[in-house]
Amino acid sequence: MRNYRFRLYPTDHQERKLIVSLETSRWVYNYFLNHPTMSLQDMQFALTELKEEEPWLQNFHSKMLQMVVHRIDGSRKALKVLQRNGHKTGKIAFAKSKDSNSFTYNQSGFKIVRHGNTDLLWLSKIGYIQLRLHRLVQHIKQITILRETNEWYAIICCEVSNRLFTFIDPRRSVGIDVGITKFSHDSDNHTISNPLYLTKTMKPLRRANRRLSRRREGSNNWNKAKTWLQILHQRIKRKRRDFAHKASHYYSQKYDIIFLERLHTLNMVKNSHLARHVLDSGWGTFKTLTEYKAKMTIDVNPKNTSVACSRCARNVPKSLAVRIHKCDGCGLVIDRDYNASLNIKRRGFCFLPQELREVTPVEILRESMKQEESTNMVESSQSLLSCQLQ
Ligand SMILES: [Zn+2]
Repeated sequence: MRNYRFRLYPTDHQERKLIVSLETSRWVYNYFLNHPTMSLQDMQFALTELKEEEPWLQNFHSKMLQMVVHRIDGSRKALKVLQRNGHKTGKIAFAKSKDSNSFTYNQSGFKIVRHGNTDLLWLSKIGYIQLRLHRLVQHIKQITILRETNEWYAIICCEVSNRLFTFIDPRRSVGIDVGITKFSHDSDNHTISNPLYLTKTMKPLRRANRRLSRRREGSNNWNKAKTWLQILHQRIKRKRRDFAHKASHYYSQKYDIIFLERLHTLNMVKNSHLARHVLDSGWGTFKTLTEYKAKMTIDVNPKNTSVACSRCARNVPKSLAVRIHKCDGCGLVIDRDYNASLNIKRRGFCFLPQELREVTPVEILRESMKQEESTNMVESSQSLLSCQLQ
């Protein structure tokens, strides 16, 4: 399954219909949140009865209303999983008007047609809405209509057959360590620096926030300030996504197998010092994009990858501030993140199918030796330089 996103251009009349659909979804959502004991089947049954009591609900696509019930069920399940894993959780909140930004048509009630030069999305009970179809879509399973900063989008979910790759070369593999100072450092000693869009736009964001807080809530000027703030956030989001696309493209073109850290962002975000940066780095997006672009990706447990020595496996404890890995056991001196990425690569190889595994431990060793030589060279040239200066 893959999601594609297309911009919609509804007329004013259609936009009103879309907004009413959003509000109706919200109404149904809140109605069932008031009945927390109902199971999915109960809710589905109750929905048909509800439609008899509230005949205005007949004006909306029946599958759309059913999907609301599924969404509640999904949220409850997700909440249970969190609770089981020991996270603190609250209740599922009632949807406020500003939160209800999407509704979903599943399996039926939609089609895409071409009329002259324009593409149109037909939605049952709503009509034909112009959309910008920038790629062909087939086997559509579901369409979600999304409102974002007064723009409308259709998220089209398609069934995609698994791509088959004829050949995966284990030598074309890479381990990637993601970080805050650098976005990534890989086992070929290539780094991508972190753009940190949010940090850069912090000033305009703060200004926009201040402006919003000075204005009376609900007033015209307040609404204007709010829209501006949303536009700023959207810009950051788009830049971040664009960056994630470029980074994932780079890796998936260059390598066949990509070893990535398994991220526990939820835990990291709790650490408030790191939180903004973690969210800002967009590792999650990068990972998702890489996973669908690359021939093969493997999740690696990141435990101890920054501590263990990539050559002799001895543990070299160090704080986050220490940027160089220096092993007393084997004398390896390399960049801390580079060391981690080599560990990720080596660990990842253990999970490869046997036939893909042959080359490596030796190769990794050789790579780290190469790096050490170049580090030493830099050091010796620096000392040469300082000698000359003296
Ligand atoms: Zn060592």
